[in-house]
Amino acid sequence: MRLKDKVAIITGSTRGIGYSIAEAFVKEGAKVVLCGSSQENADKSYQKILEKYSEADVLPIGVNLTSTEDIISLVEKTINKYGKIDVLVNNAGITGTSPITELSDEDFEKMMNINVFGAFKLTREVVKKMKEYGGSIINTSSMVANYGGRNQVHYSASKGAINAMTKSLSKELGMYNIRVNAVLPGVTLTDMTKDAVSDEMLEGLKRMIPLGRASQPEELAGAYVYLASDEASFTTGTLISVDGGIVM
Ligand code: NAD
Repeated sequence: MRLKDKVAIITGSTRGIGYSIAEAFVKEGAKVVLCGSSQENADKSYQKILEKYSEADVLPIGVNLTSTEDIISLVEKTINKYGKIDVLVNNAGITGTSPITELSDEDFEKMMNINVFGAFKLTREVVKKMKEYGGSIINTSSMVANYGGRNQVHYSASKGAINAMTKSLSKELGMYNIRVNAVLPGVTLTDMTKDAVSDEMLEGLKRMIPLGRASQPEELAGAYVYLASDEASFTTGTLISVDGGIVM
């Protein structure tokens, strides 16, 4: 087991990519703090995991990443139950598609507030603990951070910020043996894609992907397992694309 007894907080892990990461971490022996935007969602996904892995050690927590109190409470509850945090996966996020002229201040602020500010605040609170013993922080970025996204100035700006945070924090936190890396998914078939990408856009994107298809969320999880594990003990500041080759 590659993550035996490691304690991992994974945000946005009630569905999509985050849920696949949670399952993969459980399979590798991690103790997983499963986070959804509500306690109800977190509890439902917890039950789903228990049905498959009856021995799983999972703590389901509802957390709204726009709330500083929720974030502080998430870290406190994790420490109370497990005594440490070895891995933080900042995965939760929202997307959106709209021409710049139709984007309001509120649209831009909401995107930044969840995708960037939420990840910043949770990372800050976790690092206060992780500094004592080291760990791994993994951020979910996106191919649009490097590639751009038409009608996605707010989303691509948020993911560009995640890449910059990843590199800056890897420099700042290396002295504490905290590694900071990011995974850049390409087109992944989740609820997010269903909401944001039309069938026509999806067909166009597939033609641009060397592997000729979109990915399933489970195909992302291996990169996170690697970055969380001791196999990646000398890997930090890296942006790993898992996108079928669409961005090179
Ligand atoms: P998804 O919509 O299925 O899941 C997003 C998760 O984030 C959900 O669990 C949701 O509850 C959580 N979340 C959203 N707002 C939140 C908030 N305010 N507080 C707490 N949790 C909140 O999406 P997904 O496709 O699984 O995306 C996961 C990550 O991968 C996101 O960061 C997304 O930007 C990134 N990504 C996805 C794709 C793709 O094609 N699906 C591509 C590149 C990057």
